Amino acid sequence: MSTGPERCDVVIVGAGLSGIAAAVELSTAHPERTFLMLDQREDLGGTWDLFRYPGIRSDSDMFTLGYSFKPWTNEQSIASGAAILDYLRDTAAEYGLQSHLRLGRRVRRVDWSSGSAAWTLEVDTEKGTETYLGQGVFKTAYTADKKVPVPEFEVVHDLKADLVLEKGGFSGKDIVVINPDFVNHVAESKSETYKHFGKFQPETIICDDHAEYMAALEKLKGELVVVKEPVSSGGESVYIGSRAEVKASAPEHYPLLVQEFMDTSVGIEGITDGIHDLRIKLCGNRIIGGMVRVPAPGEYRANRKQGGKIKHLFAEEIPAEAVKIAMEIDHYFAKYPRFYCIDLANTTNGWKLIELNHKPGLSYDHESPAASSVNEKIAEYLIEVCP
Ligand SMILES: Cc1cc2nc3c(=O)[nH]c(=O)nc-3n(C[C@H](O)[C@H](O)[C@H](O)COP(=O)(O)OP(=O)(O)OC[C@H]3O[C@@H](n4cnc5c(N)ncnc54)[C@H](O)[C@@H]3O)c2cc1C
Repeated sequence: MSTGPERCDVVIVGAGLSGIAAAVELSTAHPERTFLMLDQREDLGGTWDLFRYPGIRSDSDMFTLGYSFKPWTNEQSIASGAAILDYLRDTAAEYGLQSHLRLGRRVRRVDWSSGSAAWTLEVDTEKGTETYLGQGVFKTAYTADKKVPVPEFEVVHDLKADLVLEKGGFSGKDIVVINPDFVNHVAESKSETYKHFGKFQPETIICDDHAEYMAALEKLKGELVVVKEPVSSGGESVYIGSRAEVKASAPEHYPLLVQEFMDTSVGIEGITDGIHDLRIKLCGNRIIGGMVRVPAPGEYRANRKQGGKIKHLFAEEIPAEAVKIAMEIDHYFAKYPRFYCIDLANTTNGWKLIELNHKPGLSYDHESPAASSVNEKIAEYLIEVCP
């Protein structure tokens, strides 16, 4: 027996952090509107349901990343993936979202019909294709900083941009592109980063098959090892743990990078005493600031509750040795317009490169003069490179 399309005013695609926010905002602002939330996964939570590797945690503080309508009350501000998933589940339960959820449904195609003023969604499920009709318009947009109402979207086709901050997929010409393909590729691909800057990294072995992987796990020193997929970002697809743990949770496709775990407990003199990582932010050929991320004592690794804080730094506060490595790396990108980060750590074996980050955000800590100074310097840089 076939059933007709499921209809509603608004279809929200994705039941992650953003989709849940959209659902809450929509149901609060417009209780009269009907809506459905579709997600290809079998549970809500998006990122925080997908990634379960040991040690997964937020990068920024949850007091900022959490919802304005449901403030984060857990005392750990840098929270574990499990704690964030619980928070999302609690939010969904509190706002009665379960009945709106349609899980195991991947939206394959979306068509707008001006005649019927409706969206038609073709949705793949295990059992075949379903159709959904949605007639509403989104009234809310989400950013990590805050949720802002967007009265209406207007699609502008003939917009001429002065410059583009490339985050993927831009193919225009005759425009200044900040982070052109080369910069993004080297930063995004961990094997490319290693190929170019391996000398700054802890011992790393690229494994093309299972035998090489097993041999690498045996070869590397230390109690903990790090396994990374060649392309990942935001901590995705990075597995940290004992050999037994990473053997159990690492993916089975290759290549993989196996890396010595960095012991950062030596801290950074004058900045922090213990485990940390140091993010250096760069625009063009200069360091514009940085931040150090410090987990709570004893709460850094796999399967432990984590907590910590971010301290923003002025460029002048970054230790000379770290600056030296950063500038050597940056020299490599000298001819490209760029805004990116270099993550380093001071380890028992000296300063080491963790990774590059080509999609940095702005710093939202308005209380911190160092964070505000970074934003000002980004603005200055944009003016400088703008034709
Ligand atoms: C280790 C780690 C740390 C992070 N830390 C931070 C942080 O500190 N601050 C920060 O701002 N961000 C951080 N991020 C980024 C993180 O992804 C966001 O915080 C946030 O979870 C994104 O939520 P989202 O709902 O936009 O996307 P997602 O969580 O990716 O959810 C999108 C959902 O849409 C579904 N979906 C996508 N396409 C379809 C389709 N065609 N049909 C049906 N369903 C679909 C997906 O299955 C998914 O469930 C981190 C990410 C990781 C991995």
